[in-house]
Amino acid sequence: MEKFSLLRTKSYINGEYVDAKNGATFAVINPASGKEICQVADLGLEEIQQAIEAAKQAQYLWKHELPKQRATVLRRWFDLVLENQEELAQILSLEQGKPIAESRGEILYGASFIEWFAEEAKRICGDVLPSDKNNHRLMVLKQPIGVVGAITPWNFPHAMITRKAAPALAAGCAIVLKPAQETPLSALALAELAQQAGLPKGLFNIVTSSDAVGVGRVLTESAVIRKVSFTGSTRVGKLLMAQSAHTVKKLALELGGNAPAIVFDDADLDNAVEAVFASKFRNSGQTCICTNRIYVQSGVYNTFLEKFAAKMEQIKLGAANEQGVDMGPLISESAVQKIQTHIQDAVQKGATLLLGGERHHLGGTFFQPTLLKDVNEEMKVAKEETFAPLAPVFKFDTEEQVIQMANNTEFGLASYIFTQNISRIWRVAEALEYGLVGINEGLITNEFAPFGGVKESGLGREGSKYGLDEFLELKYLCVKI
Ligand code: ADP
Repeated sequence: MEKFSLLRTKSYINGEYVDAKNGATFAVINPASGKEICQVADLGLEEIQQAIEAAKQAQYLWKHELPKQRATVLRRWFDLVLENQEELAQILSLEQGKPIAESRGEILYGASFIEWFAEEAKRICGDVLPSDKNNHRLMVLKQPIGVVGAITPWNFPHAMITRKAAPALAAGCAIVLKPAQETPLSALALAELAQQAGLPKGLFNIVTSSDAVGVGRVLTESAVIRKVSFTGSTRVGKLLMAQSAHTVKKLALELGGNAPAIVFDDADLDNAVEAVFASKFRNSGQTCICTNRIYVQSGVYNTFLEKFAAKMEQIKLGAANEQGVDMGPLISESAVQKIQTHIQDAVQKGATLLLGGERHHLGGTFFQPTLLKDVNEEMKVAKEETFAPLAPVFKFDTEEQVIQMANNTEFGLASYIFTQNISRIWRVAEALEYGLVGINEGLITNEFAPFGGVKESGLGREGSKYGLDEFLELKYLCVKI
């Protein structure tokens, strides 16, 4: 492991690398080989409290720092992330399993939030309002919310952290962040670079722990923490929301999705195939905005399947650094079981298996890209997020019918539509109950645009000009003159 200068195995609290008091550690596993990469500090709950305390002290100073100074530090952090892109990508692929090209892309994507919020830090503007009295002047100040508790998932071990930490720091907040147990190394590498960038101690704390339930409790029950920002499953998001009720915390929740991709007869079919494919198989289908259900209108149903299958046959699986690899392993054995259950359930209920359906000959958690046709609303794939390389293709006849089917879920994160009809674009985009709509495009996220879901997919928006507001409170001032 010596070849990585940014590899750290201790937690990062108050600007220092710390072990668990009782010396406990947990293993980080390479999902491609199943082998242990290293052991990482497994903090107890007392150490989490210390991190919160350190963040509180640090935030008091940071909120008084000039915006330009906060921006300068963030900008340096951004530069360092870019300078270290290759090493960060190698660490990411090692612990997460995605192909190295995807990891390089994730580092750039993650860095873009640091750059964006470094710029936005200088544009936090209050307001002067009209008054109801001649001798009153009304104003609004925007102030940092305080200490933020964050919990992030394993599917984007780098970008899900910068998308929270950069706006929090830009706004003048401090953060205590628990990365997923599967992928703590990318988080610790980011902390090392933040330190090198000159971020004052205590503002960005990375607490590694195998006790997600315990850490979640401490973060939500703490009166010091004023906001919890979480990306992960809807189940855990609901739990954190309930736990946060005691202290009436603000919440940002980026939860599960069940993204529909709708291909109409009048679509540019080659483009639709290309875009749905990209959205389906990125990170082996393990992103919350990956297409989960593919709806194709009856006139192009068979042609779509043929073209889509031809592309799927080209997918090469392998370990991250192998030449020409498109898809890595799934993150865990339970992920494999989930896709198997979804395939089995669909086939039992009448779906036809066109491609894949089995574990891949590479073994471990590698799974074949799988294509199902004749899929219907009764099947698990219609209701649950598979989070794996399974493409279930539904047939539909009318626009009304497909809108109803697409909205028939408790989720509402990403959706995709493919049509060349301008009126239909507006009608369908407005009717879809989703936070994001890709129109003739499958890859739509970037730092300029607001990311977030409706319904049980979550609360709040990350990135964009709206992202900073999540970490600011409005204070109204009324002055009698
Ligand atoms: P996934 O199924 O993608 O792993 P989870 O919601 O289980 O989604 O995990 C996302 C993050 O939430 C991880 O950092 C995980 O450790 C954390 N987590 C899991 N369970 C809890 C919990 N009960 N309280 C707080 N955090 C949790």
